[in-house]
Amino acid sequence: MRVGTVTEIKNHEYRVGLTPESASELVANGHEVWVQSGAGLGIGASDEQYSALGAKVIATAEEVFAGCDMIVKVKEPLAPERAMLREGQILYTYLHLAPDPAQTEDLLKSGVTAIAYETVTGPNGALPLLKPMSQVAGRMSIQAGATALQKAQGGRGVLLGGVPGVMPGKVAVIGGGVVGFNAAQMAAGLGADVTILDRNPEVLERLGNYFEARAKTRFSSLANLAESVADADLVIGAVLIPGAAAPKLVTREMLGTMKKGAVLVDVAIDQGGCFETSHATTHDDPTYMVDGIVHYCVANMPGAVSRTSTYALNNVTLPHALAIANLGWKGALARDPHLAEGLNVHAGKVTYKAVATELGYDY
Ligand code: NAD
Repeated sequence: MRVGTVTEIKNHEYRVGLTPESASELVANGHEVWVQSGAGLGIGASDEQYSALGAKVIATAEEVFAGCDMIVKVKEPLAPERAMLREGQILYTYLHLAPDPAQTEDLLKSGVTAIAYETVTGPNGALPLLKPMSQVAGRMSIQAGATALQKAQGGRGVLLGGVPGVMPGKVAVIGGGVVGFNAAQMAAGLGADVTILDRNPEVLERLGNYFEARAKTRFSSLANLAESVADADLVIGAVLIPGAAAPKLVTREMLGTMKKGAVLVDVAIDQGGCFETSHATTHDDPTYMVDGIVHYCVANMPGAVSRTSTYALNNVTLPHALAIANLGWKGALARDPHLAEGLNVHAGKVTYKAVATELGYDY
């Protein structure tokens, strides 16, 4: 099979679908890989690195789309990219079709077979192709929060780890799932005083067993939450209620109970945010103040660490890409029911129930 990857054209998207190393694995499996010239520059991978590992560097996206059997990307195809897709071609990328009727309609018209990263499942209902981005965002939330706590950034001038003789900063992590766990690991690693709040007793038990004395766990009742937020220097919002907008757990009124210059990092902003005063921000201008509290609400945090994020994403996408290339999409999906959950569009039909229901297509 000939597999292609192109430069992402979404604003400030620096990740790339295939790293040079992933390209080389496809080549080692007998496939041809076409990479648009410059596609890897956002992760520091040059055309020479791709060609040294066996990929063919192609001048334009048009040629890659026209010549390849499968296109591996990161973000959903934008309109100019959708115009280049063709019947029988495989598109393997994040799609997020449910809120995007225009993209869905174009994919249907193109006749492409589209496999979406975000709906590929794993054992126990996990979403393994989303997980690495939550890991990145969770870990980054502490870096972002630590920076925002600096006085010149509007913060209260607290060093999370403290120093000998001075108390560390207090971090409250709301939600102990993938984001929350990774945030707590980073905060505890810096020596901060960490409390993780969750409502799921199994999650609390797992975190308690893992962190032992390095972090406290607390049931996320309204009263406990209010107390932990008031006490914290840094609050990480990391809740998720599957299929629903994030609950507004920190109200504007609660900001008044917080220390001036404390920081809120709302990782759940991509689901609407879990603080009442959150609105999405960008890496260019990531923070704003409300009632003396610094808010950081960047909706695509992994984009800032494009190299780490691309490698983390490729670790989970490559095995499926290899299976699709080796067995054909039908063979790969027949062999792996979890990968089969990724099929969102095929031959002009929506093949994923939630997307069909949301957008009113037959299923
Ligand atoms: P997850 O499902 O692994 O964890 C969510 C946790 O929230 C669960 O443990 C759940 O029990 C807990 N929870 C639910 N209601 C709660 C409440 N009232 N109080 C305390 N805890 C509660 O989800 P995740 O992968 O950690 O993702 C968390 C959020 O981060 C999601 O909205 C996700 O989309 C978002 N995210 C954002 C970015 C970004 O760049 N901003 C990147 C990745 C993920």
